[in-house]
Amino acid sequence: MHHMTLAEIARGLADKKFSSEELTQVLLARIAQLDPQLNSFISLTEELALGQAKAADARRANGETGALLGAPIAHKDLFCTQGIRTSCGSKMLDNFKAPYDATVVAKLAAAGTVTLGKTNMDEFAMGSANESSYYGAVKNPWNLEHVPGGSSGGSAAAVAARLLPAATATDTGGSIRQPAAFTNLTGLKPTYGRVSRWGMIAYASSLDQGGPLARTAEDCAILLQGMAGFDPNDSTSIDEPVPDYSASLNGSLQGLRIGVPKEYFSAGLDPRIAELVHNSVKELEKLGAVIKEISLPNMQHAIPAYYVIAPAEASSNLSRFDGVRFGHRCENPENLVDLYKRSRGEGFGAEVQRRIMVGAYALSAGYYDAYYLKAQKIRRLVKNDFMAAFNEVDIILGPTTPNPAWKLGAKNSDPIAEYLEDVYTITANLAGLPGLSMPAGFVDGLPVGVQLLAPYFQEGRLLNVAHQYQLNTDWHTRTPTGF
Ligand code: GLN
Repeated sequence: MHHMTLAEIARGLADKKFSSEELTQVLLARIAQLDPQLNSFISLTEELALGQAKAADARRANGETGALLGAPIAHKDLFCTQGIRTSCGSKMLDNFKAPYDATVVAKLAAAGTVTLGKTNMDEFAMGSANESSYYGAVKNPWNLEHVPGGSSGGSAAAVAARLLPAATATDTGGSIRQPAAFTNLTGLKPTYGRVSRWGMIAYASSLDQGGPLARTAEDCAILLQGMAGFDPNDSTSIDEPVPDYSASLNGSLQGLRIGVPKEYFSAGLDPRIAELVHNSVKELEKLGAVIKEISLPNMQHAIPAYYVIAPAEASSNLSRFDGVRFGHRCENPENLVDLYKRSRGEGFGAEVQRRIMVGAYALSAGYYDAYYLKAQKIRRLVKNDFMAAFNEVDIILGPTTPNPAWKLGAKNSDPIAEYLEDVYTITANLAGLPGLSMPAGFVDGLPVGVQLLAPYFQEGRLLNVAHQYQLNTDWHTRTPTGF
């Protein structure tokens, strides 16, 4: 039962082959048995899940239908869930029970999903390895000595290990696409503004975007359908109609213009990944796509710009965690300043403190023009590169990551080495564009992802290309040994 995709589950439930309650029991038992190896959950919500499953079964018995009605999922632990711990992977929020549901959580619950739990993540979504979580590192089910990617590593490891069919995640600089690549999943970062950020604990507000992590493009379409849409509570949410994503899957790729940026194949890229990217290009050519070399000349500036903008926004967003209103509070503060200092010093981990310091520095008087303003100018150049490229092509294709998943601990002493791994993903966040990573092969037994980028609001096009690719390849069906 645990091997089923969301689409298969929807058909099974509709055909009354099993109930949502039965499926939920099976998956909860599987999580109890296997998750100790992975550490992919921070909290399990068995009671809530069984209640939601029974309610979904009752709705189906009353004639209601829907692809998500009775579908088991989990939420990354930065989506607020009413009455349930929402930790953001941090000691700071270890005791925080959200007083309301995030819009994404509420929308998916209304569609009938069953919440099995809250998934592990890098602290405040800062990281590319899921090693900065207060709740411990997550392991990659493809090789337990390797990282699953981050920051949505818990969602990725759980879905890859068939503990559940799909999960929510967020992507500020790659945190949906990179863990998808590292664990052989399909992950979609929507256009900025497509999915509400209300109730999603902020890391860098101008970059953060929620989206689906699943095994197939077909399932990403189903989950995105339940997440996307205008939300008056989020002033950056965009009031555009949500298309039928599942209906977009079957378009022909005949004549589709795919751009492959020449800058992607620089010295930093593992040549074995380059080869798998070329193979995916050939596969899409067979389906009728036309390949064109393009250029994204400002790509080389994206990492330094991102690692100024994201920490700058984080330093501002995280100032609310002061030990006064919510979150961790130190014991016996001597005075207010001592309360702030020790609560924040004890509550935040090393990487979060590093980013707050970098961000506050970049925003301070005298440095603002040199760093923050400069970074914002680069951001515009990165966007302009994409706009020029999309005048010539319909999709941009390349590697999701320069290397496969590294060993746990390998980059712990060198944060910049980890930042460099985000080179292919962060540009989409800087520009606000949608991006998808799909399974495209293996290197040393570890999965490799190919990234597709599209113009604003063309999530359907990304899902279409990935689905057609998945109809003709079987990388996405491979299962990690032992799961
Ligand atoms: N690795 C990037 C960072 O640490 C992106 C993280 C994310 O997308 N949340 O900022």
